[in-house]
Amino acid sequence: MQLVTVKTFEDHFQARLLESKLESEGIPSVVLYENIITLNRMYNVAMGGILLKVHSDDYERSRKIIIDIDNSPWTDEDDQILECPKCQSTNLYGGFLSFRSLPAILAVFISFIAGGCYPIYFKSVYRCKKCGTEFKNVGE
Ligand SMILES: [Zn+2]
Repeated sequence: MQLVTVKTFEDHFQARLLESKLESEGIPSVVLYENIITLNRMYNVAMGGILLKVHSDDYERSRKIIIDIDNSPWTDEDDQILECPKCQSTNLYGGFLSFRSLPAILAVFISFIAGGCYPIYFKSVYRCKKCGTEFKNVGE
């Protein structure tokens, strides 16, 4: 039996969400490096992210499910399809970790000064794949 990485994550919530989705499709999977990367995001680069692994026989089916999820539009809690406020594209990254805020920049700075031992602050936003605009969903 061989485990292969089907997707990597920066955020453990998304890894666990996909793990649940695969499980509901009858595909067992395992999440690796979740704890160490959640404790210190600086390890994300060193460890190659939080890994979601599946049995090599389930790889193709898992990738198809992931591509289907990636291609479906993001919706808000009222099932309205989210769109970019600038160009109205529905082709978005969700849970995008933004450095573009003062607290995030300060957190990176402080983290480096402190030897990388403090968790880094990121703002989780949607990012338009077309024009790069980052925005938070209204109501979040
Ligand atoms: Zn856009």
